[in-house]
Amino acid sequence: MTVDRPTIDAAIAAVTAAADLTTSAQGRLLAGDTLTKTDDSPVTVADFGAQAVVCAVLTDSLGEIEMVGEEDANDLVDDRSGLLDGVAGLVSSTLARDVSPATLLDWIAVGSGSASADRYWTLDPIDGTKGFLRGDQYAIALALIEHGEVVLGVLGCPNYPLTSGARGATFVAAHGETHLLAAGERTQVNVVPPASLDVARFCESVESGHSDQGQSAQIAEQLGMTAEPYRIDSQCKYGAIALSDANVYLRLPTRADYVEKIWDHAAGKLVVENAGGRVTDVHGAPLDFARGARLSANSGVIATSGRFHDEVVAAVGNVLS
Ligand code: AMP
Ligand code: MG
Repeated sequence: MTVDRPTIDAAIAAVTAAADLTTSAQGRLLAGDTLTKTDDSPVTVADFGAQAVVCAVLTDSLGEIEMVGEEDANDLVDDRSGLLDGVAGLVSSTLARDVSPATLLDWIAVGSGSASADRYWTLDPIDGTKGFLRGDQYAIALALIEHGEVVLGVLGCPNYPLTSGARGATFVAAHGETHLLAAGERTQVNVVPPASLDVARFCESVESGHSDQGQSAQIAEQLGMTAEPYRIDSQCKYGAIALSDANVYLRLPTRADYVEKIWDHAAGKLVVENAGGRVTDVHGAPLDFARGARLSANSGVIATSGRFHDEVVAAVGNVLS
């Protein structure tokens, strides 16, 4: 399946604009800039602002689109805490034009599309909102899904700590390749598998509520991975696997009833696979993006640089059983 160049360029422009917004907002959020959603997770003016900017840039370049975004414009309409003005201010300054609240809500509502369409975008405007609020890592994750397959992933990681010492990376996955845009340069990314598991390093969530850190420690011990885990928020973990800053990503369910959302994995999965790595759920099954907005056929995630994937799946099976 091919994605045309204007579509890829629009996606990169959209994520870049959203990263400008989140970068200027991070660390400057005020007490009233955050609210708690019905599922108890936090959302900030920057989450809504980034979704608005991505939708504005995409529709501007591509016309009408189908999009499944994490944020819901109704949360702002129903909001009594005055978040809307804060979002309008952020979006207006990012796009350098006055944006009315009505336009803003229309843009955010572009993200209420259908995950059963043949072709649709999925967006997490700030993946890792808890990391974002801590002043730490987060990602802007945009992907295009066609007939249940992820065909384009653009993953913006504005604070990603590159080994060069520079900060900030955008990963673009399409046509079987992953490219890194960083410090004004574009390079193709290919994973470098570890020589053996005892020199491998695994990464996982900072938030222990999102992945079972006790079980991951047992799995690491079984596999002889002795390095300290690389704990990093958001789909930056997929970026870390692609760049070989980590070799194994473990996302182990903390609750039997939790079902992963497509926007938390679509972009990252393609970034890893197109760089030569592998991504499955904890049972070794491929992530199935043909089931709507959730990965209802899957449980957890294992991503690796490829070479030792089957060994990791087996060790996860031992510990989880
Ligand atoms: P991370 O930064 O990797 O810890 O992942 C952040 C994402 O975890 C958020 O976007 C949430 O959608 C997701 N999340 C929330 N609760 C859970 C949970 N119980 N298990 C797994 N993921 C979760
Ligand atoms: Mg998320």
